[in-house]
Amino acid sequence: MTGARPPATIVAAARPDLDPAYGSIVPPLWTSDTFRWDTPDDKPGFDYSRTVNPNRDLLAAALSELEGAAGGVITNSGQSAALLAILRLRHGAKVVAPHDCYGGTFRLLQGFAAKGQIDCRFVDLGDADALAQAMANGIDLLWIETPSNPLLRIVDIRRCVALAKTHGALVIADNTLPTPVRQRPLDLGCDFVMHSTTKAINGHSDLFGGALFARDVAHLEELNWWSNAAGLNGSAYDAAQILRGLRTLPLRVDRQEQSALTLARWLEAHPQVEAVHYPGLESHPGYAIAAAQQSGPGFMLSFRLKGGKPAADRFVASLGLITLASSLGGFASLICTPASMTHRGMPPEVQAEAGIHEDLLRLSVGLEDAVDLRSDLARGFAAALA
Ligand code: PLP
Repeated sequence: MTGARPPATIVAAARPDLDPAYGSIVPPLWTSDTFRWDTPDDKPGFDYSRTVNPNRDLLAAALSELEGAAGGVITNSGQSAALLAILRLRHGAKVVAPHDCYGGTFRLLQGFAAKGQIDCRFVDLGDADALAQAMANGIDLLWIETPSNPLLRIVDIRRCVALAKTHGALVIADNTLPTPVRQRPLDLGCDFVMHSTTKAINGHSDLFGGALFARDVAHLEELNWWSNAAGLNGSAYDAAQILRGLRTLPLRVDRQEQSALTLARWLEAHPQVEAVHYPGLESHPGYAIAAAQQSGPGFMLSFRLKGGKPAADRFVASLGLITLASSLGGFASLICTPASMTHRGMPPEVQAEAGIHEDLLRLSVGLEDAVDLRSDLARGFAAALA
């Protein structure tokens, strides 16, 4: 991490002196929809909560420092952060996105493309020729997601940025999986970074949130303008809760990552496993790039079982500790079958091309004891054999 202050200090210190009345160390909750003006011509810093709100500002400031951004907008979901990134594009803008991106991102970009508002190509960002070809007729925005969801593919951010810049394109990175405590895309040349704060940043699986950050002030002003114009903002309550979750992000990621590495190594050696995707394994094709651009491999992994979908269905049905559910990054370990759950918005042929097979299992490793998680997975393997 190249930030001036370590993440653990940033998240603990995100409580500026905003409570002169009582001196509370936890920022108060500013639920007011509107704020008093001293005179009609003297616009106060905070005037209307759709435009600006102190709780959102505190969260945006902490996350901006973690990401090395000029600032950002706190939205009410990861999808609304993605929508905000699309809203600023001109009509007919050319977008290139990963062929194995998050299913909701695919659905949203595809929806705008189907209406003729953007021209979007989905390509394997790891394939240099395919990427160069997709950009050959011009590009306005390159969308990066690394590690990707659900295959944990690693894209070389610096290389993609260099190529995009030769065409004058801007670059956005969805940094939801690594979080800013493991990867800082703006340091690697990206212009925007987005998050589903629903995931690890909040970490408690109890609300929705999103965020979009800009490296430059001019882009930040544009994002603020669009979020105000379109009403794409999160609530004060959610911002306060997400800031509370953020305070333990560095600790949680350390612990979850440790367990993920232990489980990935165990899975890799398991006779019933066809393949394991985890960037912390030396066998992962993106291992070296991940080691260069991330400060750790993170808490997400995916794997395929021998025995195909029937074995995978028996496996997930027999788990007790790990829940079958489609989210990630929370305190509790979750497993899902992306083909039928998180990525069902992708047509089967697109899934097949991206490598999202129906027997692929995605595991978000939580805070449980790693030995207990391994015992639960062992139960799954026993059931898969039946
Ligand atoms: N980006 C990634 C990588 C995700 O995994 C998700 C949700 O799973 C999103 C964006 C969308 O976030 P949300 O569900 O908060 O709208």
